[in-house]
Amino acid sequence: MTVKKFLLTFTPENVSEPVTYRLVKEFDIMINILRAEVDEKGGRLMIALEGSGLQIERAVKFLESSGVCVQELKEFVRKDDARCTNCGMCVSICPVSAYQVDKGTWKVVFLNEKCIACGMCVDACPPGAIRLRAQV
Ligand code: SF4
Ligand code: SF4
Repeated sequence: MTVKKFLLTFTPENVSEPVTYRLVKEFDIMINILRAEVDEKGGRLMIALEGSGLQIERAVKFLESSGVCVQELKEFVRKDDARCTNCGMCVSICPVSAYQVDKGTWKVVFLNEKCIACGMCVDACPPGAIRLRAQV
């Protein structure tokens, strides 16, 4: 099984389409909604899709054919280890523990696979060692 994160952008024309329901029903895929900013004028949905590579590929094609703009989020933030002072601020603020202290080195490590792209760590980092890789 594979898990991939995507940013879906909806227009006023397709925002009322039940695409997430159809993904589950017709593509037998698991969806985790990470973030949603949607109203009747459109909006953006960040989701994680879990399934085989082929299932995810078919699901993305379906979304695109429905007029939804699909952007894969391979990496939302990037931590610059050269700038990081290991102050631990990001460890405290991240809601999903995507930053952890390595017990051997006492350095802060970033676990990209845990990140749900909330963006909270970016402004919290005193030396600006965390940068956005995609705008949401
Ligand atoms: S907040 Fe910035 S400087 Fe502090 S540990 Fe996290 S990445 Fe490093
Ligand atoms: S963007 Fe949010 S979830 Fe991702 S590492 Fe930063 S605080 Fe954690």
